[in-house]
Amino acid sequence: TPDLKDDNGFKGHDMLAPFTAGWQTTDTNPLIIEKSEGSYVYDINGNKYLDSLAGLWCTALGGNEPRLVAAATAQLNTLPFYHSFWNRTTKPSLDLARDLLETFTARKMAKVFFTNSGSEANDTQVKLVWYYNNALGRPSKKKFIARSKSYHGSTLIAASLSGLPALHQKFDLPAPFVLHTDCPHYWRYHLPGETEEEFSTRLAENLENLILKEGPETIAAFIAEPVMGAGGVIPPPATYFDKVQAVVKKYDILFIADEVICAFGRLGTMFGCEKYNIKPDLVSVAKALSSGYLPIGAVIVSPEIADVIYSQSNKLGSFSHGFTYSGHPVACAVAIEALKIYKERNILDHVNSIAPKFQDGLKAFSDSPIIGEIRGTGLILGTEFANNKSPEDPFPAEWGVGAYFGQKCQENGLLVRVAGDNIMMSPPFIFKPEEVDELISIYGKALKATEERVAE
Ligand code: PLP
Repeated sequence: TPDLKDDNGFKGHDMLAPFTAGWQTTDTNPLIIEKSEGSYVYDINGNKYLDSLAGLWCTALGGNEPRLVAAATAQLNTLPFYHSFWNRTTKPSLDLARDLLETFTARKMAKVFFTNSGSEANDTQVKLVWYYNNALGRPSKKKFIARSKSYHGSTLIAASLSGLPALHQKFDLPAPFVLHTDCPHYWRYHLPGETEEEFSTRLAENLENLILKEGPETIAAFIAEPVMGAGGVIPPPATYFDKVQAVVKKYDILFIADEVICAFGRLGTMFGCEKYNIKPDLVSVAKALSSGYLPIGAVIVSPEIADVIYSQSNKLGSFSHGFTYSGHPVACAVAIEALKIYKERNILDHVNSIAPKFQDGLKAFSDSPIIGEIRGTGLILGTEFANNKSPEDPFPAEWGVGAYFGQKCQENGLLVRVAGDNIMMSPPFIFKPEEVDELISIYGKALKATEERVAE
């Protein structure tokens, strides 16, 4: 079982340097983006780039959707702000909650709690689960199990849940109530001769053993991204979620689906839960909820949990948690319009029509001697460079293979996400066939340059 103290599997995945955000400085010669248009962004020098990551996995409708701008403007002109505390709220936040409940069809859900981000959504999950277990008189059921290489956000608790060492080291994280189990990355972690199904069985057994070792009465919830994103784009192996769900159910452990990247069409289904037949108790969303135009996240809550919290309080009011901008009316108005557009334009049909060209076109590069694996589904894809194509043999970090590839893409007008020797892409849902061709062409050029550099 790989654990977070074991460097195995992280050698090619350096989250740290490319991850750092928020420090605004020109010392590092940043790429300064000024304008966006469809799937393209422009820097301050007028250079045009195909934005293969849709901003940060979020601008699903591309860079200049006028209906989202109009929705924001109309709401700004009517009610730019009101809060949702003390049984006061706004129409856009009520409407968006209703729309989200209608849109999530993997199972029946009952309530929505708004946040400003995916991190806040996942922090909120922990508080909801603790409140729920305390209300049920089982305060010892406190621990969370997340997975190695997961990413759940950057606030203290979301970073604790995340399974990337760079988010823990030097921060005294993870918090003690967080445990990590295996990353379900078949290519890297399967045993010789083990099928995907057998691999999934072994991981589910490992999960069960961890639960038994800790004591099921101490484990509150399991959290998982349907497809792992920032950890390198890792779709689940066959039968994985069936087996894991059976284990958590057996021990009365809640299942939290972190759909921050996967929701609203990225995988070709409205939610990742539909694609993998996940029946979660709680769901986190953000990013494409507003197509990234304004910060908003949400937690979608099952009737069972809502009922317990409801019965404990005055109309959920004693769940003492919330943010000034929870259910911000302008962000909600934009999100309502985004959901409307996804439906009106049959965005799922479009994603499903373009995804094979994107997936097959890029996976055709799998034979490259410097590529270990290209993996993905729908409009999300990861490339992992590896020496001798082997998961056991990463390139020396100082070679900067991934960074070099990313630089060559950028020089040729394509922005990708680089994390060590992992390259990630999640283009806007509105991606056009000719944009896929352009992406593949630049990818091919950058790959050739990188192969030559490695061969030197
Ligand atoms: N969960 C997942 C799966 C994510 O990919 C992210 C961000 O990339 C988050 C949570 C955190 O979201 P935010 O950056 O909005 O806090």
